[in-house]
Formats: sequence, structure tokens, C-alpha cells
Amino acid sequence: MAKRPLLVGNWKMHGDGGDLAVIVAIGEAARRHPAVDVALCVPATLIDRARGVSGGLAIGGQDCHAEPNGAHTGDISASMLREAGASLVLLGHSERRHDHHEDDALIVAKLRAARAAGLEVVLCVGETAEDHAAGRSAQVVREQLTRSLAGMDGQGIAIAYEPVWAIGGDRTPDPAEVAAMAGLIRDTVSGIRALYGGSVTPDNGAALFEEGGVDGFLVGRQSLDAEAFTAILELM
Ligand code: PEP
Repeated sequence: MAKRPLLVGNWKMHGDGGDLAVIVAIGEAARRHPAVDVALCVPATLIDRARGVSGGLAIGGQDCHAEPNGAHTGDISASMLREAGASLVLLGHSERRHDHHEDDALIVAKLRAARAAGLEVVLCVGETAEDHAAGRSAQVVREQLTRSLAGMDGQGIAIAYEPVWAIGGDRTPDPAEVAAMAGLIRDTVSGIRALYGGSVTPDNGAALFEEGGVDGFLVGRQSLDAEAFTAILELM
């Protein structure tokens, strides 16, 4: 049975109180497309206000600590995100893996903490440009999945295939490569929603969605623009 499509926006370290109108507009678009689950992962400082104006649009965080509380200056726990109004969290984004040296062992600890706090998780996996050029994409993604899930059953988790080399630029994989990776993800974790992320736009979204055979997208830059994000939603 086809799964409900899922469209998740990732605002990264962008957005403040002046951007609430964008969230309002995305919330309105989401209500016009009730067959698609739509969520926006905003900076932690915006979660509460985003929830206030989102009109039911799911709001998420972009990371959480593995511990519920403690001496971890600058960090935020899964239960804090939940209390602020988040219903999901991104984990394992390549920017976290790169900038904060997060490894799969840490990501699985965060994943357990997020699920224990009642948050849904979008787990990001994907190979570097070097691994892609060497033909190691499938091997890398399979290893990341196995290590980051560590036997968890995939309940409440969606997996976003985000090739590191496709994020934040203008290159995307061939839809056939996306389809192969979506198949690998579903073979590794049954029943899961397999998303694609990396330079999705209203122009390339239809091919990536249909020929790529994914259950949805994780979208960075284009989610900061309500019109562009809505155009992507309308392709699903
Ligand atoms: C991302 O940050 O997860 C992402 C996919 O970014 P972009 O769409 O801007 O490439």
C-alpha cells in the first residue's frame, strides 16, 4: 500500500520572528493538501511561535541531545523540544555529522532519546562526493542505516537519503539513483517512509518524486520561500 507522502522543510540556522508569515503561508498550503503530511523544522528559538501560527502544520527541531538534561551547555534535549511544541526532529543531518563530528553511535543514542520523548524522527543518511565517485554510495548508506538504527524497528522514523554532495548546491542524483537508494532503504527497514533531500526545487521535484519513487522530500533552501515550498508540495 502506498504510504502518505511526507514533505519536511529544514530552515537550518535561518529564520526569526520576522518570518512567521512564511510559516502561516506554508500552514495554509498544508491545509489545502490534506493527503500530504507537511512539517517544518525551524530553529529551536522559533518552535513555540511557529506552533502558535502554524495552524496545525507539524513543527520540528533540527537536532537534540541524547540525554534528557544535564551539564551540556548550549544543547537542547528531546523532551525540551517536545515541550516547546515540536512533534519531530531531524537527526544525523550531514551538517551535524560534519560540523559537530557526529557519528552513528551518537545518532542512535539521540534517536532513542527522541523516540522516548515521543518525537517522530527524520534520520538523514547519504554519501560524500568522494564515496559517490568511487561507487560506494550503497555501501555507505547501508552501513549508516544499520549503525544509526542499531536494530530499532523504524516505528516513528522516516529516512531521508541526502547525498552530501547534493545539499546546498544545484546538483542532484539521477532519479534512477534515488530510486535505487529508496529501494535499499525500504529493504533495510520495512514499512518506513523513504525521502529524498538535496537541492529539490519546483523544477526538478516531479522527476525526483515520480521516477525516484520516494515517499517525500526533505527540503532546505526552498522551504524558506512559501511559494517555492508550496509548489513542491503540489507535485506530491
Ligand atoms: C538540507 O539541508 O537538508 C537540504 C536538502 O538542503 P537544500 O534543499 O538546500 O539542498
